[in-house]
Amino acid sequence: MNILILGGGGREHALAWAIRQNPKCDRLFVAPGNAGIAAVAECARLNPNSRAEVLEFAQENAVDFVIVGPEAPLAAGVSDALRDAGFLTFGPSQAAAQLEASKAFTKEICDACGAPTAAWARFTDAASARDYVTRQGAPIVVKADGLAAGKGVTVADTVEQAHQAIELIFDGEFGDTSVVIEEFMAGEEASFFVLSDGTDCLPVGTAQDHKRVGDGDTGPNTGGMGAYSPAPIMTQAMQDQVMTRIVRPTIAEMARRGTPFQGVLYVGLMIRDGQARLVEYNVRFGDPECQVLMIRLGAQALDLLLACAESRLGDAQVTWADDHAMTVVLAADGYPGSYEKDTQIKGLNDIPEDSFNTVFHAGTDLKDGLTVATGGRVLACTGRGQTLQQARDRAYALVEAIDWPQGFYRRDIGWRAL
Ligand code: ATP
Repeated sequence: MNILILGGGGREHALAWAIRQNPKCDRLFVAPGNAGIAAVAECARLNPNSRAEVLEFAQENAVDFVIVGPEAPLAAGVSDALRDAGFLTFGPSQAAAQLEASKAFTKEICDACGAPTAAWARFTDAASARDYVTRQGAPIVVKADGLAAGKGVTVADTVEQAHQAIELIFDGEFGDTSVVIEEFMAGEEASFFVLSDGTDCLPVGTAQDHKRVGDGDTGPNTGGMGAYSPAPIMTQAMQDQVMTRIVRPTIAEMARRGTPFQGVLYVGLMIRDGQARLVEYNVRFGDPECQVLMIRLGAQALDLLLACAESRLGDAQVTWADDHAMTVVLAADGYPGSYEKDTQIKGLNDIPEDSFNTVFHAGTDLKDGLTVATGGRVLACTGRGQTLQQARDRAYALVEAIDWPQGFYRRDIGWRAL
């Protein structure tokens, strides 16, 4: 079959890498792709958020299956347009993508289905929000309601910090004038990935990531500087608890509302004393969590995504090797602030890659035959092994083999699990 993946980051490279290995895959297109993706798929220079451009491409290239990588095309309704036009599509509808696009929506769903999460309140004016924070006290969490690429959340240690965060939101910093204020939850965070076809659910892995830019989890938040899978805290018993108390009730509530969720649900959890509570949902694979999930799943990823899109998850299962994976992100100096672009990356062609050692590209491009960095997060060096230590050693060996003086990385990915 001909397959189109929308997106062009490390997540989409990992998806393309896994799907390419499946004999069901004939032509594989990724739009827009990047320099690394170009080695495993045909890159199509189109805007993945444009319904018209995506539809036209899918029609002209006899695409049989479309996989939507990032959240923006989902929030823009691209998956609805594709399904309306008869294309088999992996990714939730615009209505179901509200689980990521609106924090207040997710909170309402949790309340309706009894899923444990932080106590919350929503405000559409700054004065009421400030009063509420003053009454509740700190620590407290202030969130812009809509999509803010991870930048709209402030975990405030003081009431003053929370007040400042509220001002920023109502000044229109995130294009949003609605705020969700949450109880601060202490504990250990973990991510759990579950496919749902609207009715049935299938867990497809656990991971933990590192959001802060610096070693020791210091410095500003980023899109993610590394991740590993599985997450030790997500034991089978914990997965069962989360499926029973959080995921299945959510999927049932979405179906009850007439907006069934079909796609991958990224369940962000806070775990304390053996009890999990929901921090957030995302409606797509995480980046860089997708890299560690895909190197572990390999070719079967395509069968699982197809079973999801064709509502056959009731019969599907995952075949797990008893393995571990780690990915270490190489980012451009200055990230998550401003950074230089178009710097040359050398050494990539000399790296022997296989199903245990792979460099996924995020922000790269080919210019005059050379690989150059075009984004903040640039490469995800990914290792797989029998132990997390072995996966770590492989991932860092890849990092060492890359010659890119303008890049940096964290040296302590996986510290908690190791
Ligand atoms: P991202 O896209 O980076 O995942 P987001 O903008 O969708 O972020 P959340 O995941 O809701 O926002 O919050 C970002 C981070 O803030 C969480 O990963 C968690 O570390 C912290 N956080 C959010 N809500 C709470 C809470 N109620 N208690 C404690 N920490 C929280």
